[in-house]
Amino acid sequence: MTNWTLAQRAQRMNPSVIREILKLTEQPGVISLAGGLPSPDTFPIEVLRDASARVLRDTPREALQYAASEGFGPLREWVAQQLQAQGIAHADAQRVLITTGSQQGLDLVGKVMIDAGSRVAVESPTYLGALQAFAPYEPAVEALAGDDEGARPEAFAAARGARFAYLLPNFQNPSGRCVGDARRDAIVAAAAEAGVPLVEDNPYGELWYDAPPPAPLAARAAADAAVYLGSFSKVLAPGLRLGFVLAPQALYAKLLQAKQAADLHTPSFNQRVVHAVIENGFLERHIPTIRARYKLQRDAMQAALGKHLGGLAQWTQPRGGMFFWLELPADIDAMALLPKAVERGVAFVPGAPFFPGAARANTLRLSFVTVSPQQIEAGIAALAQTLGDVVKRAA
Ligand code: PMP
Repeated sequence: MTNWTLAQRAQRMNPSVIREILKLTEQPGVISLAGGLPSPDTFPIEVLRDASARVLRDTPREALQYAASEGFGPLREWVAQQLQAQGIAHADAQRVLITTGSQQGLDLVGKVMIDAGSRVAVESPTYLGALQAFAPYEPAVEALAGDDEGARPEAFAAARGARFAYLLPNFQNPSGRCVGDARRDAIVAAAAEAGVPLVEDNPYGELWYDAPPPAPLAARAAADAAVYLGSFSKVLAPGLRLGFVLAPQALYAKLLQAKQAADLHTPSFNQRVVHAVIENGFLERHIPTIRARYKLQRDAMQAALGKHLGGLAQWTQPRGGMFFWLELPADIDAMALLPKAVERGVAFVPGAPFFPGAARANTLRLSFVTVSPQQIEAGIAALAQTLGDVVKRAA
């Protein structure tokens, strides 16, 4: 028997708790409000088919050859222009790195920024996939004190000395909350005062249903004070695995070297197809159709929650993104509630895994984008029945 000795870092790797939970919930007849996926009905299949054919007809050798690790030049230019339009005046194509999903961006940031024991500050709750990406580099993860508006500016003084603060200002996964304009200014000022670099992750910013979110943190911070991550997953299709990082000069070369070691470059074919799709303003027509669809579903979930769960749970209607975040009565453990809910025909994601430290076990996340308004109504009714049973038994 060969003895394969694992690196310590491998012991830090865990299966995503959520993926394990989702396996339990993938049963026929169960309405899943648990997923974190965009709706496949939003994928522009015909447009991608045509663009793929065009790329293979016009530039097949280039599209199928190895290419630059930085990414496809015209796509980097397009990204830089988009970021400038969002107010990031210093966004320059030379500092845009195309990544294999923004998830790779998180891994690369972790790889070049975190030593064993390095302090990293995060919101609480935060995106589980970021905690997973950082974990192998052995950070000491700290929760930034926060409230309904996001991380509290006062929290940054305590984060002094952290390698970076990882923040999701727009329609956060999992909580759905969007940081307001004044709070963004205050966060940027407090982080600068404490000398804490910002890592801003924004996959959901375009998915707004009432009004566009305020300008990104990176638009308010000094050019060298923030890394910004974006993604095509929620506005085109996640299977393309296309994301990007805008990085300060001091970091760019190292991220690039880390990327070279990881995968040489993001698939050139995908980059060229996406560029062919978006270069003439396609997203300006396409994204409003996604917003219109998701807004109906968001409204259906808000209505169903009001009808069935008023008095049993607390939530704030998200103004964008894909998720509602529910707070149940304090003594209810959402993890223990889940199997009972699945029996009743509905699945959700318990909130505990999203907390970097002390978890609030009475929280859960509901996705509204892959289910119809009818399924949402039925699913929330089933959730209310499950909760009603538990509350009654406790009474
Ligand atoms: N950040 C957040 C907050 C996410 O929710 C996700 C996807 N669920 C990602 C990053 C990664 O997205 P991708 O790699 O598809 O760009």
